[in-house]
Amino acid sequence: MAILIDGNKISSDIKNEIKQETEEIVRTKGIKPGLSVILVGENPASKVYVSNKQKGCDEVGFASETIKMPENVTTEDVLAQIDKLNKDKNTHGILVQLPLPQQIDKNKVLEAIIPEKDVDGFHPVNMGKLVAQQDCLVPATAAGIIQLLKRSGINLKGSNATMVGHSEIVGKPCTLLLLNEWATVTICHIETRDLKMHTKDADILIVATGVPYLIKEDMVKEGSAVIDVGINRITKEKANPDLLEWRKSDFETKGATLIGDVDFLKVEPKVGYITPVPGGVGPMTIAMLLLNTLKAAKKLMGII
Ligand code: NDP
Repeated sequence: MAILIDGNKISSDIKNEIKQETEEIVRTKGIKPGLSVILVGENPASKVYVSNKQKGCDEVGFASETIKMPENVTTEDVLAQIDKLNKDKNTHGILVQLPLPQQIDKNKVLEAIIPEKDVDGFHPVNMGKLVAQQDCLVPATAAGIIQLLKRSGINLKGSNATMVGHSEIVGKPCTLLLLNEWATVTICHIETRDLKMHTKDADILIVATGVPYLIKEDMVKEGSAVIDVGINRITKEKANPDLLEWRKSDFETKGATLIGDVDFLKVEPKVGYITPVPGGVGPMTIAMLLLNTLKAAKKLMGII
């Protein structure tokens, strides 16, 4: 049986640490770290993500605001809003919830946020600093994965780590963070010829593809650590018999369930550590966004 890496517990520990530091900052400086989120349009999933970020801010004592903009805004409208937030002394972190409507130039928008307030870590300056191993704001999910590994006592130095998926949001930054921790890193993607060859020798396997059941039991190394980033919603009609039984209550109450990219029931007995979905990487993303906001606030206030 593998040790379950509990993202809820680890993220809650991190949020408690942030809350304590925030109380100290408010006591000494009289200012709360502040996060501003720009939400464009009516995407239901985006609304849920933004509301969860807002709740996270409340939990740790940050000031936060959501700036809602209509679906049909122009790139210039969004840039004007970012310009205001860049200049606002009470805003220490800015993020624009993705995806954006098609008419908006995403790169222009992300590059308009000053790197010091870019708490998503997507600005090319922050990405470049990550490559150059300089202090910067790191994309939250990737930073969360490293925290899950470190706080579970998993050794990174000298380990063989395989990253499946090379997105700008997860795969690429995670690869760089692993490398910075002296892991030997292999990156796999859609053109990788023999995925199994690269996954089955990995001491640490991280999977971020959005492909359910991609990783099967014959693709993992015995005793390894498996981090499943994927989030896939499976409806009752598409579920196999094992999943129908395992997630019976989800199907009965919601008609669907969430699974990762790893065939959890078959892989779990073979490996040493594994993250569940949900309750693994997911909760870490918000915790690390809050940590980035705290870091940005401390820098902008001259504390660090
Ligand atoms: P992207 O779609 O941007 O990237 C997916 C990556 O997986 C691509 O690099 C793609 O390669 C690769 N890939 C797809 N199919 C295969 C395959 N069969 N074999 C090998 N590689 C493959 O997704 P994201 O990185 O944004 O997200 C990945 C998953 O993680 C999604 O399910 C998403 O919902 C989830 N996620 C979860 C978060 C959390 O907080 N838990 C946060 C962010 C994402 P190529 O580009 O070459 O096609």
